[in-house]
Amino acid sequence: MSQPPTTPVRTRIAPSPTGFLHLGTARTALYSWAYARHHGGQFVLRIEDTDVARSTQDSVDQIIASMHWLGLDYDEGPVYQMQRLQRYHAVVEQMIAAGTAYRCYCTPEELEAMKAGQEARGEKRRYDGTWRPEPGKTLPPVPDGVKPAVRFRNPVEGEVTWDDLVKGPITIANREIDDLIILRPDGVPTYNFAVVVDDWDMSITHVFRGDEHVNNTPWQINLFGALGAPLPLFGHCPVILGEDGLKLSKRRGAVSVTAYEEGGYLPEAMLNYLARLGWSHGDDELFTREQMVAWFDGSHLSKSPAQWDPAKLAWVNAQYMKQADDARLAKLAAQQLRSRGVAVADEAALAPMCALFKDRCSTTVELADWIEMYFVPVAPKAEDITAHVTDAVKPALESLRDRLAAIDWDKGTIQQAIKDTIAEHKLKMPQLAVPVRVLVCGRPQTPSIDAVLSLFARDDVLARLRTA
Ligand code: GLU
Repeated sequence: MSQPPTTPVRTRIAPSPTGFLHLGTARTALYSWAYARHHGGQFVLRIEDTDVARSTQDSVDQIIASMHWLGLDYDEGPVYQMQRLQRYHAVVEQMIAAGTAYRCYCTPEELEAMKAGQEARGEKRRYDGTWRPEPGKTLPPVPDGVKPAVRFRNPVEGEVTWDDLVKGPITIANREIDDLIILRPDGVPTYNFAVVVDDWDMSITHVFRGDEHVNNTPWQINLFGALGAPLPLFGHCPVILGEDGLKLSKRRGAVSVTAYEEGGYLPEAMLNYLARLGWSHGDDELFTREQMVAWFDGSHLSKSPAQWDPAKLAWVNAQYMKQADDARLAKLAAQQLRSRGVAVADEAALAPMCALFKDRCSTTVELADWIEMYFVPVAPKAEDITAHVTDAVKPALESLRDRLAAIDWDKGTIQQAIKDTIAEHKLKMPQLAVPVRVLVCGRPQTPSIDAVLSLFARDDVLARLRTA
């Protein structure tokens, strides 16, 4: 796959709007996007909304929002399949006329009976060809009042072979696959048919998608053949496994991009992590979006399932947090605080706080956990009070308070006030700094206490010290 393609590259992502953007779909969207960008091609967003009962506009909105959040910009779309019904109907008519598709009047009850009979005989479940036209065959009389489905007349001989971009060569015998329904009686196309018409109409050259579609690909390839349409190349990416080794699923933790956005991850970290989950560039763990585009030529995609590793994602995110601009983090931390009901009037005031705490945070949720103490009263643990705010240190806390009340409020003067206090009371720095942390910050450990205090309003510090 390092060979450059000869036609303009066009890729797509085709989510079904029946929920949030799933991590697996986000990963194949990323590969499709990066491949198109690598080759200067185009990337299309298509909404596969033919499952009318389960598709919602809310899901579409969420999916689009997640694509924007991840920065997976598309050149065309969103194209909605349900707005293309006329086109599918026209193609179906052409196929019926050409003899590559036919109407099937089997009722659901008949199909159920067919299935039960096959199961009873220990046979593989398949359509028995009742309505499949054959030379010299007389079809049953068309029953009254039954709306037909349309089936693809799949070749019975030969085999389907493709060289999968991820898995390598795959061959399936045509006798293994039956005559698939392409149009339901209600006029809505099935996935395998709509996907082919769309990939054809949209001149898609490369399809990256999840493993679960490998079994659909032989039908799709035969449909492309029946339509005389050029065949795209297919790459099926292995599933993502949860920490327990089972397929990542909603029941076992967050699987939507939205959940990670809300969970305080940065989009560039998410992209970096998703990219590495099934693809590699040497030993590189951290890379920019531009580097990925430069490197992603469709090679080095992993054949084996990747395992979702929250600890590694947290590490990747922490690296991006360290580099992130403080004003940007301030906005994100403010959002997190607001979602907790903490009012933040001046977002810009959060920037120096982000600068102070970001190095010790894996997510903006953790960042907000730190910054919250500047906005809401803290509740030190009783055991921290007992251990650190001892009677012996209380006089020192009082004189520190008096000093802090009288200085110009900045880091340097606060530091001097602390130094003068420990000198006066013959203490070591932690003997004073730790109780101050417990009272003012609600915890015994923080970054340098003078820096931490300087970002508080003086009155808040004095009030919290007074609780000793
Ligand atoms: N709607 C399908 C899905 O979400 C698209 C599969 C494909 O990319 O062909 O799984």
